[in-house]
Amino acid sequence: MALHHETPLLESRPLSLKAGCVVQLKMEALQPSGSFKIRGIGAACERHARNGKRRFVSSSGGNAGLAVAYAGRRLAIPATVFVPETTTERARALIRQEGAELVVHGASWQEANERALEAVDAETAFIHPFDDPILWEGHATMIDEVVTAGAAFDAVVLSVGGGGLMAGVAEGLARNGMQDVPIVAVETGGAASLAASIKAGRRVELPGITSIATSLGARRVCERAFELARSYPVESVVVSDRDAVGACIGFLDDHRVLVEPACGAALSVAYAYPERLSKYERVLIIVCGGATATVRQLLEWRES
Ligand SMILES: *Cc1c(COP(=O)(O)O)cnc(C)c1O
Repeated sequence: MALHHETPLLESRPLSLKAGCVVQLKMEALQPSGSFKIRGIGAACERHARNGKRRFVSSSGGNAGLAVAYAGRRLAIPATVFVPETTTERARALIRQEGAELVVHGASWQEANERALEAVDAETAFIHPFDDPILWEGHATMIDEVVTAGAAFDAVVLSVGGGGLMAGVAEGLARNGMQDVPIVAVETGGAASLAASIKAGRRVELPGITSIATSLGARRVCERAFELARSYPVESVVVSDRDAVGACIGFLDDHRVLVEPACGAALSVAYAYPERLSKYERVLIIVCGGATATVRQLLEWRES
């Protein structure tokens, strides 16, 4: 049985009124690991388990690491998550809470990732946070669910970090015969590696990440995401951290669900730039979720 849940699809009255079109929300924030990532990572971990792997390794201190930890507990396979010293106490606690081994190593993700790769042997599956076709196939199930529910939509709004979510949604659209539906791909200013790549006409690597939306903090998007931006109707939108945090707080009031700024980025198109949606009739926003922000942290970000 799949490790992800079928999530609710809600029509948002407050966001529909703001955007001047019907806004539908795919509530991935309600997944057991707190984000959409369990769809693809759960599928990957189940496959590795069937193929005889006896340990999972991740180098993500965010929602990907959390999804691997959750999958490990559910499949009774030990998981080890390597994170850098910058990983928040909150994220560390969430990973440990799933029973995973947590190894803190290095000043940045690069160092933690190198250490993680050293720990991989023949019996270990290394789970990449976004750049793996197995993940995209798993993420695509969220579109299958919306289509099976009979919901119509003429645009999908989603956040982009490394581009795994976008690759999965594009795959879901394609396998449901909806490859003409545009994707509005949202990033925050300090993490806009897709926007920079589109502008440069090649896949560029950002010198660093300066956004608080750390779950969008891939310095370079995966090849597949860049390819999609060229071959597929993708509209790139860059919002500010302030927009993203404001949307998280607005969403908490409107829909009583707490999400990270990484998800607030996509929601902020409806909250702060509704004119970008008014050309559509029925949009689908992927409420990708994220478990590592707290209410207190959101309020602190808003003040700073
Ligand atoms: C991982 C993540 C993203 C970005 O997904 P990518 O596949 O890296 O583009 C966005 N929001 C949340 C909450 C995430 O955990």
